[in-house]
Amino acid sequence: MEGIQHELFMREALKEAEKARELDEVPIGAVVVRDGEIIGRGHNLRESTRNATMHAEMVAIQEANEQLANWRLEECDLYVTVEPCVMCGGAIIWSRMRTVYFGAHDPKGGAAGSLLNVLEDDRFNHTATVYSGLLAEESQRLLKDFFRELRKRKKQKNGEHA
Ligand SMILES: [Zn+2]
Repeated sequence: MEGIQHELFMREALKEAEKARELDEVPIGAVVVRDGEIIGRGHNLRESTRNATMHAEMVAIQEANEQLANWRLEECDLYVTVEPCVMCGGAIIWSRMRTVYFGAHDPKGGAAGSLLNVLEDDRFNHTATVYSGLLAEESQRLLKDFFRELRKRKKQKNGEHA
C-alpha cells in the first residue's frame, strides 16, 4: 500500500479522535481496515460508558468482528492515533490482526514499543507488525490541547486564575 493511503486511514482515525474530544473524552481514535476498506471505527468512550475497557481500539475491533461476523481479523490492519496499551495489544493479537500503524508514542502506557512490545513478542502464538509515528504530530497536538483545556477548567473550578 502506498504511503498516502496509510495517511488517509490515519486521518480517519484522527476524525474518530476528534469525536472523542467533542464528548470530553481523551481524544484517541482508531479504524480497522480490510482490503482497503474501513470495517470498524472507534473512539475512546471510557467516560461516556463508564467502562474501563472502552478504548478506541476495542470499540473498532468489536465493530470489525460484527461486520465480518468473525472474531478473526487476519487480513486486517489497525490505524490508531496513539500507541496501544496492554489491553488493546492483547485484543489485537488475539484477533490475529496483521499490522498496526500508530501515531504518537505513549511513554506511560504504550505496549507497542514504549514500555514493552506485546505485539511483536514471538513468544505469543501470533504477532502483528508495528509501524509508529504516522501523523504523530497531529495526534500529539489533539492530546496536548485536550489536557491543557482540562487543566484550565480545573483551575477555574477551583477559583484560581487560568
Ligand atoms: Zn487501550
